[in-house]
Amino acid sequence: MDSNSSDSRAFRSPDTNLPEKNQQENNLIDHLPVAIYTTDTLGNVTSYNKALVRLLRITPLIGQALWSNPLKIFTPQGNPASFEESPMGRALKQAIAIEGEQIFIQLPNGSKIKVEIHIAPTLNHAGEFTGAVTTLIDVTGQSNSEEQEARLAAIVNTSDDTIISKTLGGIITSWNTAAQHLFGYTKEEVIGKHISILIPRDRLQEEDHIISQIASGNKVDHFETIRLAKDGTEIPISLSVSPMMDSSGRIIGASKIARDISDKIRTDEKTAMLAAIIATSDDTILSKSLNGIIKSWNKSAERMFGYTEQEIIGRHISAIIPPSRIKEEEYIIGEIAQGKQVEHFETVRVTKSGTEITLSISVSPVKDSNGKIIGASKIARDISVQKLAEETSKRYTDRLEIINLMVKTISEELDLNKILQKVTDLTTQITGAQFGAFFYNTVDISGESYMLYTLSGAPREAFEKFGIPRNTAVFHTTFSGKGTVRVDDITKDPRYGQSAPHFGMPEGHLPVVSYLAVPVVSRSGEVIGGLFFGHPEPGKFTAEHETIIAPIAAQAAIGLDNAKLYEEVKALNEKKDEFIGLASHELKTPLTSITGYLQILNRMSADEKISRFVSKTLHQVKKLNTLVSDLLDVSKIEAGKLQLLNEKFDARLVLDDAIELVQQSYNTHQIILNTNVSHIIVNGDPNRIEQVIINLLTNAIKYSPEADKVEVVLSHTHHEVTIGVTDYGIGIDPEKFSQLFSRFYRVEESNPNISGLGIGLYISNEIVSRHKGKLWVESKLDKGSTFWFSIPL
Ligand code: ADP
Repeated sequence: MDSNSSDSRAFRSPDTNLPEKNQQENNLIDHLPVAIYTTDTLGNVTSYNKALVRLLRITPLIGQALWSNPLKIFTPQGNPASFEESPMGRALKQAIAIEGEQIFIQLPNGSKIKVEIHIAPTLNHAGEFTGAVTTLIDVTGQSNSEEQEARLAAIVNTSDDTIISKTLGGIITSWNTAAQHLFGYTKEEVIGKHISILIPRDRLQEEDHIISQIASGNKVDHFETIRLAKDGTEIPISLSVSPMMDSSGRIIGASKIARDISDKIRTDEKTAMLAAIIATSDDTILSKSLNGIIKSWNKSAERMFGYTEQEIIGRHISAIIPPSRIKEEEYIIGEIAQGKQVEHFETVRVTKSGTEITLSISVSPVKDSNGKIIGASKIARDISVQKLAEETSKRYTDRLEIINLMVKTISEELDLNKILQKVTDLTTQITGAQFGAFFYNTVDISGESYMLYTLSGAPREAFEKFGIPRNTAVFHTTFSGKGTVRVDDITKDPRYGQSAPHFGMPEGHLPVVSYLAVPVVSRSGEVIGGLFFGHPEPGKFTAEHETIIAPIAAQAAIGLDNAKLYEEVKALNEKKDEFIGLASHELKTPLTSITGYLQILNRMSADEKISRFVSKTLHQVKKLNTLVSDLLDVSKIEAGKLQLLNEKFDARLVLDDAIELVQQSYNTHQIILNTNVSHIIVNGDPNRIEQVIINLLTNAIKYSPEADKVEVVLSHTHHEVTIGVTDYGIGIDPEKFSQLFSRFYRVEESNPNISGLGIGLYISNEIVSRHKGKLWVESKLDKGSTFWFSIPL
């Protein structure tokens, strides 16, 4: 197989005795670069040259067939072929020449080469066919570059990019499938046409520019422009144009790759639009990576936090988070990493200058095109103003509530102490004072101290231990009614610390620095006292506090005035009751002796006339006695000293007695009892119950002067016994019902001529109530009334 064996295997013919000239020819052929061999008509090798050995990598044997193992023949399509089918076989069989047919040959090492075959038949002198000369030209390399070309053409054709070539004169020379799709022209329609069919009129000068670039050997890269499709549609494209050169390097045209950028333009526009929205948004918008690095920052963010985009991008988000709130960031990032949103999260952030601002932030995950979370976008809104408004409104509402409560207390409460305590407590609360107090405007015997009345926020001992506030310059302003005193730091006030012995706040006294004092002035202009507030820190009280407290103090003054009046009235009332009690007691004694003497006189006298007068006098004295007894009862009730017996008695019996007694005194009316109750045992005071019945019967007769009867009913259930007294008299306006049982109340207009004190029903009601029963009335004006009472069994 050694192709370099230069010896006898050199090109040779079987005839070794050739003349010199032939020897030279043989040499020449042996050194030809092209592989040649000769055969006889059967295909047996008669001669060959070195180039054949080099090409086929075998040394042929003279007189034997060449095309046998290990060489194998294939058709240009790559199918195995027999010797007979091969150009060599056919040439011999048919004694013909073959020009330039190609075959593949598989060499002993397994590799394949492509050869071009040229066969010339050889003839002897007689013109007979003796064999053939076969030349093999290796075209393996050539065919590769053709294939490459074909492959390239295929690539160009199947490329998604539009690829066009044109001459320097602008004539289209190639046009791929993508070009057809993009522009709508087929290859046939455009090849040979000028490129300007694709260029909008107003852009024709672009082509000159491109061509001039190409002509000077430059590329034009990513040139964004507009081209026209066959149907006239304008297509935004990005062009890349390169010069095309011939083998000598001369520029002969241009190849052009065009890419449709409509989508890109749409996305770009969208991105630009979004960017503009974000940039100009009034909301602060920023984004950050999942590890907290700030990635974007709009103008609003710049305004809100004071950092410019350049300053902050790339920094950690903690730059704007107060240290105490760093934990929040962990929470937010945790939520974001899970793909959740954080909405309207109210928090505090810090600006470049260190100011804290209250924000509402909404954070959303930012995802890449694959949906992976890569960061967070954050919209922040400054809600400081809103918060302030909310707080202010809440403060006002709270105050309003406090004031309402106070006004209610002042108007409902008549107890001086309670009013003062409430006013002190609530005003202390409103002012945010740590200590509040009300001092009465009285000076003690030594002319020094103001009497402490109420205190809020500090224990009473705190004051008492160190002596009550003194008649010093500071307090004097308030008690002399010179208006409100508000001092941010009382210890620096010129009026402060002027008085002996303490010269300032006694040591250990409530540490008052902020000071507010509001005089409480009565309607008459008298300074009743003052409300004093203190706080250990300076500047705690504002003008607003002053304006709130002033009307409260005025209101409190009214309340105090009223309470004072009430107390005076109450004291007078007590005096009156005391007097009634005393007077009736004093009257009782002489009445008793008068009654006694009259009875004796009545018995002693035989004179019928005298006897009649004495009887009448006795009757009047009895009435007087009842009146005095009633008055005494009233004073006992008022003093809580009305005593009742508690024993079992028969109510029917008591009723009968009462009816009999009243009937004896009055013969104008007949008292009729309607009942089927013969005995009913009740617990209580039989005398007092009898007193109630007598009262009701007497009233019934008294207030029905036109009538002649009074009806009484008695009934009972398991729970109670009820007695009713009905008259057919003047009746009572139902509007007056509620007042009937009050002390000294009389329906004057309806009974101007009927005497009475207005205490009978009051006493009766008290007695029934003390028996846990109730007394009530049913009545119609001019028709009559029924008074009922029931007592539980
Ligand atoms: P007095 O009869 O001494 O005035 P009372 O306390 O017994 O006092 O009664 C209070 C008022 O109730 C009376 O003044 C009268 O106006 C009214 N009154 C009481 N009983 C009757 C009645 N049976 N009919 C009409 N009015 C009555």
